[in-house]
Amino acid sequence: MYSRWVEIDLDSLRENFHSLQRCLGNATRIMAVVKSDAYGHGMVPAARCLADEGATAFGVAEVGEGVMLRREGIAVDIAVFLGAADDEVADVVKHNLQPVVFDTRQVAEINRVACKAGVRVGVHLKIDTGMGRIGILPREVPLLLSCLREAKNVYPAGVMSHCPLADGDDAGPSVLQNTLFAETVKSFDRMGGEKTALHIANSAALLRFPDMHWDMVRPGLSLYGCHPADHDWARKTVLKPVMSFKTRVLQVKEVPAGFGVSYGHTFVTSRNSLLAVLPVGYNDGYLRSLSNKAEVLVRGRRAPQRGRVCMNATVIDVTDIPGVVPGDEVTLMGRQQGEEITADELAGWMGTISYEVLCLFGNRNKRVYL
Ligand SMILES: *Cc1c(COP(=O)(O)O)cnc(C)c1O
Repeated sequence: MYSRWVEIDLDSLRENFHSLQRCLGNATRIMAVVKSDAYGHGMVPAARCLADEGATAFGVAEVGEGVMLRREGIAVDIAVFLGAADDEVADVVKHNLQPVVFDTRQVAEINRVACKAGVRVGVHLKIDTGMGRIGILPREVPLLLSCLREAKNVYPAGVMSHCPLADGDDAGPSVLQNTLFAETVKSFDRMGGEKTALHIANSAALLRFPDMHWDMVRPGLSLYGCHPADHDWARKTVLKPVMSFKTRVLQVKEVPAGFGVSYGHTFVTSRNSLLAVLPVGYNDGYLRSLSNKAEVLVRGRRAPQRGRVCMNATVIDVTDIPGVVPGDEVTLMGRQQGEEITADELAGWMGTISYEVLCLFGNRNKRVYL
């Protein structure tokens, strides 16, 4: 029995995959984004589950993640968003991964190694249409394309871009990006026989802009059951949270009014109180910024967190919840009876986004698969 654990509900992951698929036309494939250990859900179990449901491509951040997927028997296309450093190209070729490329030198190096191995390697050409991060500017596309044409052992498996504002209030910048993407790829004659997939949409763009689905979409967050924004365009697609975070009550104790709780006594009781200590703290991703803000679920009710969150422990007030005893299951994130604490709610308390909450909880704790 663990002191704290995340539960991963693979049925919800399956359902989310199919809910997203229903948003798409028949010609659009899903590239399931499983980087960072599938946002804390465990890359291999998540990818296996999604491959069984019909995912025909995966997106990872690094070559090592792609290699691990291959070793686990994932046979479909795997795109590597950060591309390949020189010393990773051998693994790209050996394991048939598809790195993102954004300079001519990379293409030449991949071509050299692929040529020696007698294979052809697919790459995803990344165009920066306004992300302001990885990718080449549209005016640099002709140069990279001519380099790709020379590189006989490299073919363009995809041309992609990314939207930094698709979840924002104003749709305008994303629509403009998509227009620029459309113009940039128009000049792009499909080379090499293999079909080149055009893709630009993350979860927000997938849910919000049907015009941006192109040949493939790249959802991450929405697969894991979180909405990329709190707008109707996002909420209209039902998504189920895949991850819950749980612990158990370690100690229950009665204290008088005027009793200081935890480091710094940032909370002092105003009445006779029943406190419960939980064996979870910032080392487990339950960040110190949650201090005196968070709530948890115990016996189906919300209990407020009190005092500073410590490295391995935190305190909740259960004065108003009858019958709490050591060993009671406590839900830090997820559902308990009719109540729910969402990743978005935790993100609000922490001053961050649901993405970071999932990575924090999921990648720092034992995972239990349902
Ligand atoms: C992480 C990532 C995604 C997935 O974004 P979500 O907002 O989680 O859907 C898509 N594309 C790229 C290039 C990414 O890095």
